[in-house]
Amino acid sequence: MATVTRFAPSPTGNLHVGNIRTALHNWMLAKKAGGRFLLRIDDTDAERSREEYVDGIRADLAWLGLNPDGEERQSVRLAIYQEAFDRLEAAGRVYPCWETAQELDLKRKVALGRGLPPIYDRAALALTEAEKGAKLAAGEQPHWRFLLDREEPIAWVDGVRGPQKFDPATMSDPVVRRADGSWLYMLPSVIDDVAMGVTQVLRGEDHVSNTATQIQMFTALGATPPAFAHEALLVGSEGKLSKRLGSLGCAAFREQGIEPEALVALLARLGTSQPVEPVADRDALVAGFDLGTFGRAPARFDDEELARLNSAIIHQLPFARVAESLPAGMDEAAWLALRPNLSVLTDAADWWQVVTGPVSVPSLEADDRAYLAQAAAAIAEAGTDWSALTTRLKASTGRKGKPLFMPLRLALTGREHGPEMAALLPLIGADEARARLQRAAG
Ligand code: GLU
Repeated sequence: MATVTRFAPSPTGNLHVGNIRTALHNWMLAKKAGGRFLLRIDDTDAERSREEYVDGIRADLAWLGLNPDGEERQSVRLAIYQEAFDRLEAAGRVYPCWETAQELDLKRKVALGRGLPPIYDRAALALTEAEKGAKLAAGEQPHWRFLLDREEPIAWVDGVRGPQKFDPATMSDPVVRRADGSWLYMLPSVIDDVAMGVTQVLRGEDHVSNTATQIQMFTALGATPPAFAHEALLVGSEGKLSKRLGSLGCAAFREQGIEPEALVALLARLGTSQPVEPVADRDALVAGFDLGTFGRAPARFDDEELARLNSAIIHQLPFARVAESLPAGMDEAAWLALRPNLSVLTDAADWWQVVTGPVSVPSLEADDRAYLAQAAAAIAEAGTDWSALTTRLKASTGRKGKPLFMPLRLALTGREHGPEMAALLPLIGADEARARLQRAAG
């Protein structure tokens, strides 16, 4: 059976780093198996869902290079949910309830007071047809619960957490539909996973108990549940669930100059036993993807680790990948010369300005100025061959080490540090280099 995974965000906000990680892992799982990765927009909550967030989710996935093989929207599938719901109702697996939130709260407190698990007591199941009819006649719309099969123990082998067991006798029948007819997340998700042939559900461990109830929903719908895996949540570098991570998304990463390759390389391996490395080759990450390497401890997200990875990734990016983001005129040779010095791509403009000039040079001592005049003359013979130039100057002046190199670097770039001069000098060109050396010589 071909692998089908899905990423199912609710468009009630922008994707944050935790969602991005879930999306990535589902994408990788599908790619590794040669299967399909679906984007499912969970927009049954009409009030909180926004079209701008749907667009944002699509744009973020495109930026990350996680292109879905198909897109579905829950808001256009309401008739399908109704049909499945009718079947469940006919089979007695969903039932109407009329308790108010206050009544339920009271029931919970009473149960706790008696030392019982605070689960719904199924009082609504005891209502007679006449009682239900009277409520409906009075215009009281019910909400609906899914009837758990308390005889059927719930167990699955989780792709990350290993064997899992839940006792349905300790669980409340979940509400699946509100009194206004709108859907809660649980049942439509199952109906869709069946309809879309989803074979693997990979999501955060905050969904583990949902999985327990959803497994019974699959069975109630006559379907075989997919394989489930729940990954440990992402925490801040201080080890706590952080509010900041909950709003940290692609826009902020872009603003910080983080490249999608860096984010992908980090999130692909964070929380696994595989080392986080600056792997820009996505196929290599996919080939190594293995749920069996995921740990159960929370994965720590560290901005500094991401920044380090980002510069290491930038140092590998080919010209074709970055050409559009580079300053006009900057060619492949310039990119290759400058990229080892960049921590973010926008730094390229800065170094390109050093290449094209003008550069301002700090004032130098008289002997350094005389040395630079000699260097300007030497350019005529050595051209832009840095090694030939410095070998020549070393022989003619007796300078070596810093006194040999630093005045040249200062005169040519206006800075004490930067890319290899051997790579930079040909970019500056012989004429411009001579002019800069002469200017610095005064
Ligand atoms: N819309 C749900 C969420 O964002 C989907 C969960 C799932 O993957 O089943 O939590």
